[in-house]
Order: sequence, then structure tokens, then C-alpha cells
Amino acid sequence: MRALLVVDVQRDFVDRGGRLYFEGAEKVVPVVVDWVERFKRENLPIITTQDWHSVDDPEFKIWPPHCVEGTSGARLTEELEKALAGYEKHFVVKKSRYSAFYNTNMDELLRELSVDEVYVCGVVTHICVLFTVEELRNRDVAVKIITDGVASYDEEFHRVALRLMEEVLGAKPITR
Ligand SMILES: [Zn+2]
Repeated sequence: MRALLVVDVQRDFVDRGGRLYFEGAEKVVPVVVDWVERFKRENLPIITTQDWHSVDDPEFKIWPPHCVEGTSGARLTEELEKALAGYEKHFVVKKSRYSAFYNTNMDELLRELSVDEVYVCGVVTHICVLFTVEELRNRDVAVKIITDGVASYDEEFHRVALRLMEEVLGAKPITR
């Protein structure tokens, strides 16, 4: 089964004024929504991850506080929320670390849905996207990276992460 994985397209990352917003992050949103519509048309599963931190999460020693559980900044961005509203095959994974597998229901979810191929988009290319793709590849799940649907605040890290995912982890790049 093929699934779409949308990584952390949350208000604190992609909305102007969000706690960890970076210039250009919003550009992934229309691409992500387009892929959401495609997967909906085929009635395929769509998994969205949300960074979801307690107020005193140790990660805030590295990053300013962001995506605190229950806050508006932790919500999916509005266009994505709307696109997914009422879709029965939308699944949510809340995570407190870069990898969407650490301390989450992701393994169970992929198993239940019999997912063996994942299309990945979202932010940030070299952080949560990369560390989640590594985990997918460890599990022999085929990965397609939607290259115009991922973004980073650092162009060099962005390029390196795409190379790592393609050349080292064996993910396949794809665009619209
Ligand atoms: Zn975080």
C-alpha cells in the first residue's frame, strides 16, 4: 500500500509569524495540498506528523520553544487542515523528536495499513524529513521524496539532505 507522509506542516513552521517559521517555508503548502488531493482521489492513506512538545521539552535547549502541545502553533497549517477535513484515511502521528518513529504509533500504523511505499513531503528537509526517511529505509519501506514539497532554512543543508536521502538511503526524487 502506498501512503503520503506529510511531515510537520504546522503553523509554527510554515506560517509567517510562527515560532520557527523560515522564509520560503510556505512554498511547500500548495505542493503538499496538491499531493493530498491526489491521494484523496485514489482513496489512499495520508499520514500527517505533528511536532508536539511539552512546555519544558529538553529539545528547547537546542531550539526556541515551538509546537507546544495544544497551542495554535502546533496545529497543521490552515490549508492543509481544510484539505484533510473529513477524510477517513487521514492518520495523525504526534512526535517529540525529529524522527516520526521515536515514541510514536508510526510502526503500528504502517503495519496496520500494510504500507510498503511512502511519498514524503514537508519540513524541514535536513531535520525531521531526513531523520524520518532514514527510519523508513531501515524498515525497507520504499520512499519517494517530493523534492518541491520539502524545504529548509539552509540551502546547503537542504541540498546535502536530498543527496543523503537519494544516494545513501536510496529514496527516489519525484516532482509534479
Ligand atoms: Zn521540535
